Amino acid sequence: MGNQTLAIIKPDAVQNQYTELIYESIVKAGFIILASKMIHMTKAETESFYAIHQGKPFYEELTSFMSSGQCMVLALEKENAVDTWREIIGATNPAEAAVGTIRKDFATSLGKNAVHGSDSDENAEKEIAFFFSQSELRANK
Ligand code: UDP
Ligand code: MG
Repeated sequence: MGNQTLAIIKPDAVQNQYTELIYESIVKAGFIILASKMIHMTKAETESFYAIHQGKPFYEELTSFMSSGQCMVLALEKENAVDTWREIIGATNPAEAAVGTIRKDFATSLGKNAVHGSDSDENAEKEIAFFFSQSELRANK
């Protein structure tokens, strides 16, 4: 069981000014924020980040949306980080997300669903390395 995960506050949530509220719920849930930063990805960068979904019907919409504005990316640490963060964010489709989850409260639609969470320890490690250098991750230790 790993202890790190990658979170992204997606462009819809940043634009709707939910960044601070979501950041607060991350802290309240007991995560250590190893590193965080605002970024604006190019289309090529979002295609690379979501390469796992290449060929799926929503890939074009997803990568266009994720490159449409600023995101906040965060490397989070907590015991069982991947599962814990996914529980807090709720189901991919906000219409199916449980009451009190971030997607239930802040998502706009299935595509514009406010936040990202890694789906496995292996992917968490890769995704954190996609955005953060070792020196950035060391900064808050
Ligand atoms: N997505 C979408 N339509 C779908 C499935 C996914 O637009 O039918 C988007 C949605 O923004 C989701 C992202 O693609 O968060 C990645 O999909 P995944 O199945 O990995 O969901 P997640 O891990 O984000 O819950
Ligand atoms: Mg996923």
